[in-house]
Amino acid sequence: MNVKEHESLKLKTTMHIGGSARYYAELKTKSDVEEAWQFARKKKVPLLVLGAGSNTIFADSLINALVVRIVADHLSVDGNRVEVEVGRSVGYIVNALAQHDLDLSALTGIPGTLGGALFGNAGQGPKGFWIGHFVESVTAFLDGSWRTFPKEECAFSYRDSVFKYSPSPIILWSAHLAPPSRPQEEITQEIRSLLTKRQGTQPFRMTAGSCFKALSDGTPAWQIIDQAQLRGFRVGGVETSPKHANFLVNTGDATYADAFNLVQIIRRKTGAPLELEMRLIDETGRVLT
Ligand SMILES: Cc1cc2nc3c(=O)[nH]c(=O)nc-3n(C[C@H](O)[C@H](O)[C@H](O)COP(=O)(O)OP(=O)(O)OC[C@H]3O[C@@H](n4cnc5c(N)ncnc54)[C@H](O)[C@@H]3O)c2cc1C
Repeated sequence: MNVKEHESLKLKTTMHIGGSARYYAELKTKSDVEEAWQFARKKKVPLLVLGAGSNTIFADSLINALVVRIVADHLSVDGNRVEVEVGRSVGYIVNALAQHDLDLSALTGIPGTLGGALFGNAGQGPKGFWIGHFVESVTAFLDGSWRTFPKEECAFSYRDSVFKYSPSPIILWSAHLAPPSRPQEEITQEIRSLLTKRQGTQPFRMTAGSCFKALSDGTPAWQIIDQAQLRGFRVGGVETSPKHANFLVNTGDATYADAFNLVQIIRRKTGAPLELEMRLIDETGRVLT
């Protein structure tokens, strides 16, 4: 494992907000993972896993943490049983499995890695399909050893999983998926139709996707933001997208503080118990809630 210190390259996130990491490493093998875990313990810094950064923004300064990216991405298919390493993008997996008549089309258009998707149980809305519906088991490293979580232990629910609540750093490594079978042409058609729908309703550049989760009664956050007339509302360089009120967009020169302040203003003006879906990470490596 090659750790870069005081990396001058900015951490990559799709919203293009965030500084750099005090320590940064790309992990290719299981022994890289074990080494990274030891390294963070020795340096007494948090260990943060970054996927494609499509649901994450970092503080603009130096993040006092070891930030790691999993670059392992092997995918194998045996009948309807699929094993994938978490560095693989969800988009690639959806398309690759379609060629084997395996249907993950419900996850069409979700940017990011399998790791990020498993962590946050990415997918459709509260009543739709999520990655968790297709998981058989997840293999991860925590507390110094490898562990396989059968589906029941992953505790997947809307945008939630047991992994979010791990008291110590957890590094997801691979998953077994069992998608349903369906003829390739039907899957391809479904993928096209879902992509067209997304393109008409969501921004896809300089954003980190949904800012807030739907409320526990299923009310979508965009509806609450709209009711408070905050669609298109701007703080510094960040605005709620005119196309989708729950997507924050970097208009060009956004800072972490702009995003943070906009989140607080939306919460105050709506008065609704809006839980963050996006991960805002401060300079100490703490995830804001
Ligand atoms: C245009 C757009 C549309 C989107 N649409 C949707 C949608 O329809 N549905 C949806 O659910 N989301 C959506 N998102 C959000 C985003 O795509 C998902 O949350 C995605 O799963 C994040 O994956 P990532 O690899 O980018 O994760 P990151 O943003 O890099 O990380 C997200 C979290 O996962 C953790 N994590 C990532 N990999 C690992 C790992 N290997 N081990 C442990 N923890 C890990 C990180 O520490 C972080 O806390 C959208 C985002 C954009 C920009």
